[in-house]
Amino acid sequence: MGVVLVVAAHPDDEVLGAGGTLAKHVASGDQVHAIVLSEGASSRYAAEGAGLLRDSATRSAEAIGLTSIHLLDLPDQRLDAIPLIEVTHAVEEVVLELRPETVYTHTPVDVNADHGVVARATWTACRPYAAPWLHRILAFETPSSTEWAWPLEGSSFQPNWFVDIAGTLDRKLEAVSCYTTELRDYPHPRSLQALTERARFWGSHVGVAAAEPFILLRGRG
Ligand SMILES: [Zn+2]
Repeated sequence: MGVVLVVAAHPDDEVLGAGGTLAKHVASGDQVHAIVLSEGASSRYAAEGAGLLRDSATRSAEAIGLTSIHLLDLPDQRLDAIPLIEVTHAVEEVVLELRPETVYTHTPVDVNADHGVVARATWTACRPYAAPWLHRILAFETPSSTEWAWPLEGSSFQPNWFVDIAGTLDRKLEAVSCYTTELRDYPHPRSLQALTERARFWGSHVGVAAAEPFILLRGRG
């Protein structure tokens, strides 16, 4: 049994980026934990929005079968106003406690500044001598955000690791559906149909019916 950790900026990123893969880890007997750094609501909704998102995150975690979800409630869309060392320490504390062998997080190449901060903080928290038990760190895409990164040379999401989620795509969609405030109508990338098409598209890269794509940032055999 392995220990897996997903580090996300906002409630919903963890399932949009890696929901099918996390469900697959759960099915194989791994302990799967999530940290969500920001409350994800205060930049858009009135005060009750954060509570609603917390409920959604809890239900979504249950749908995936997560062992735990840590909601840290840092300010939405303002993680870049916090010294990076503080965000890094918040991630590091959980990494040191859980000692995950596999970590999933954002890519810094993303239109959302919070995603970039979380990617950098996680990368630092998971440096080899700080987390020697860690075998693999991978970056996921966040549909509706990663693809809107600055269109500069070298900035596109180019995955080199694909997880077959044909058997867990339904579970991912069920988990995403818990986030009722974040779902949009098709063809928005955060619609169930677009997420299904996206999984089929990435699956076609590697000859499976559905996949989630990742960039392997560091691996150790
Ligand atoms: Zn996000």
